[in-house]
Amino acid sequence: MKTAAAVLTEPNRPLEIIDLEVPKLRRGQVLVDVAFSGVCHTQVLEWRGYRGVDPYLPHCLGHEGSGIVLEIGDGVTKVERDDHVILSWIKGSGISAGGSVYSWRKQRINAGPITTFNRVSVVSEDRLTIVPSEFSLKTAALVGCALPTGLGSVFNVARPISGQSIAIFGVGGVGLCTAMAAKVRDCTPIIAIDLVEQKLELARAIGATYLINASQDSVLERIFQICPDGVDFAVEATGRTNVMCQALEAVRPRGGAVVVIGNARHGEMWELDPKQLNLGKRIFGTWGGDSQPDRDYLRYCDLVMMGSLNLDAFLAPPAYPLNGVNAALTDLELGKLTRPIIDLSIL
Ligand SMILES: [Zn+2]
Repeated sequence: MKTAAAVLTEPNRPLEIIDLEVPKLRRGQVLVDVAFSGVCHTQVLEWRGYRGVDPYLPHCLGHEGSGIVLEIGDGVTKVERDDHVILSWIKGSGISAGGSVYSWRKQRINAGPITTFNRVSVVSEDRLTIVPSEFSLKTAALVGCALPTGLGSVFNVARPISGQSIAIFGVGGVGLCTAMAAKVRDCTPIIAIDLVEQKLELARAIGATYLINASQDSVLERIFQICPDGVDFAVEATGRTNVMCQALEAVRPRGGAVVVIGNARHGEMWELDPKQLNLGKRIFGTWGGDSQPDRDYLRYCDLVMMGSLNLDAFLAPPAYPLNGVNAALTDLELGKLTRPIIDLSIL
């Protein structure tokens, strides 16, 4: 069996769309007909070579998606043929089957336990979660990374109580999901900070109550005007180390907390003033919003079905075809949109 796939052959080179030979399933692996894939900054970092030396080149890409199960390998019990599934880089229950090797003209093409920039994908059982067949597959793709990371940073990590304040640094895909969760938890105010006016407007539509354009305003000055003692929580979703410093300064002494989500470039260090910690401020790291697929993903889907999450910013722009993947990466890098979605049914 063959599948069209977008393959990274060298950093900074456009991904190539090629027809790969799909390997036979090993124990714990599942063959999935991928319907939609999200494109996130992690893929931009990989494409640009910002994650350090990449020992897996050439390789497939993509770590959030949705699809329908075509075939299961030995030992798989979590899913069956025809199940609708979320594909996520965050591990859940099931066999951890590792990566795969596809082939193209006798060349080995590597793939991790999950890849989503291919029409048919071999996925490890532990990266799949069944979703009801009536749930939109396009929306389900977002439950692979953007929603668990953004929602989880609030629901699982910050855990604000109603009325607590939050500042969100960077309202791209993950930051917007953070704002959605802050609204669900009745945070007030919800302060959105970004360099791009259009993204700030999307944050407003989702429920942000104050917008700060960091290219025009002094961010900390504005935050302290709004919350004189500092905010209860700051969520950092830009991956820039100077913004991590600002986020720490922005939270209130004695109990204010920063949740750092953003991925910095390989080798970059965050230099911080320890006085900020002496003031009783806290820093939390997080792995995918501490979301656990088996516990959380259907809960997130329920919030979508109840209308509690406004996903227009993600779903309204037209999806990209698979051969538009390079445009999707570039548009994401340039901040033209928050979360490109690839429709694998169109080449
Ligand atoms: Zn991601």
